[in-house]
Amino acid sequence: MSERATQTRAASAVQRCIIPECNSAYGVQERIYVCSRCGGPLEIQCRLETCGDADALRKRWAERAGSNDPRDRSGVWRYRELLPFDESVPIVTLMEGNTPLYDAPRSAEYCGLQGLRVKHLGCNPTGSFKDAGMTTAVTQAALLGARTVVCASTGNTAASLAAYAARAGMQCAIIVPQGQITAAKLAQSMDYGAAVLEIEGNFDEAMRLVQELADDASIYLANSINPYRVEGQKTVAFELLQQCGWKLPQHVAVPGGNMGNSSALAKGFDELLRLRLIDRLPRLHVIQAEGSAPVARMFSEMAKNRAAENGSELPDYLAPVEHPQTLATAIKIGSPISWRKSLRGVLRSGGSVLAVSEQEIADAKAIIGRDGIGCEPASATTVAGIRRMIASGDIGRSDSVVAVLTGHVLKDPDYVNRYHHGTLALGSAAPIAGAFANPPERVAAKKSAILESIERRTQSRERMPRAKN
Ligand SMILES: [Zn+2]
Repeated sequence: MSERATQTRAASAVQRCIIPECNSAYGVQERIYVCSRCGGPLEIQCRLETCGDADALRKRWAERAGSNDPRDRSGVWRYRELLPFDESVPIVTLMEGNTPLYDAPRSAEYCGLQGLRVKHLGCNPTGSFKDAGMTTAVTQAALLGARTVVCASTGNTAASLAAYAARAGMQCAIIVPQGQITAAKLAQSMDYGAAVLEIEGNFDEAMRLVQELADDASIYLANSINPYRVEGQKTVAFELLQQCGWKLPQHVAVPGGNMGNSSALAKGFDELLRLRLIDRLPRLHVIQAEGSAPVARMFSEMAKNRAAENGSELPDYLAPVEHPQTLATAIKIGSPISWRKSLRGVLRSGGSVLAVSEQEIADAKAIIGRDGIGCEPASATTVAGIRRMIASGDIGRSDSVVAVLTGHVLKDPDYVNRYHHGTLALGSAAPIAGAFANPPERVAAKKSAILESIERRTQSRERMPRAKN
């Protein structure tokens, strides 16, 4: 690609309404979050034909991994041919991305799979997948001259936005439901200097509030309704394929909360397909928690209609869950803002949306820990969902499967402690009996007692499969 072509990347991109009957286009410098004509969601379209051929892109991206330029070191900006920014733009980065793809043999065996890989986005700078989208959203906020960035959050978005706003020297305000954010996520946001504004009400009410605030000219909204968030997050698909040696996995499973992450992955895979970097789409599976699963419910109704040959058009309206309930607080969202983009991506890929129980999430989380990986509860919906799909025959035992983990295990240590102590419970329900509970053990302060305990545990460990790498 010539330097001239890279200079015009932003100029050639548009923000387009995804509602087919509307299809309105807006310039990338317009500060809008939804279509001004119909209120529909926007997405950014880059001119992919100026990106160069597939082999040249693969080679250039591989070479950049060895460079010391921050633009090349970032696992998001490394793929900047596909981002709607000019080459000379000053970027706001914490060297996000570059997250590992691990082999997870114990989780694979738990699911009934021959092998399972996990892409751990919790290894980002603030411990969650949000950083990949925040680097592009805050870069755009700076370009637009925004003074204050704002988001509604269940915790991870807040921590990430607070960090990137601090890097950019911007004021940051986060709106969170009082008493529903984990201590770790709140601690991060305070440390990064954000104004933490706690409201009485749940996440969906916080989301409604920030959309009202976004009308104010001094404020830039950084929730995943913002199409620049999705642009950064879609690079996860590029990095994943690069780590797979461009050999496409058959299935990719991702947790479903506000549905921005699955929307972004779907967009990333779609762009790779259009650039002929891959020759088909992986089946995208989105997993929700049972008490907070409006999209899974809609998907199963659509499947019933398909079976009855009543058609399966994407509906206009999603019935929200009024009082979402789950201990996986990162996905405790009853009215997901990006459901339409996500569901469109799932349907195109031949994937699915399903829901799993609190017990399944908790046990899957503990088994991921036994692979030496660890994650926050919402991430474990993926392994629980994959296990279900293998049991139902939707995924074959020898299929290639990637689970996307979205948050670090230390995002919610209280959940982990309660699981292992047998006190983890949702509301007034009975505590979850952890199949892999591993509580601390009181031992006498004597060498023999310690050796005896180690020996007992060694014998039980030998029955578990070992990691290959
Ligand atoms: Zn529109």
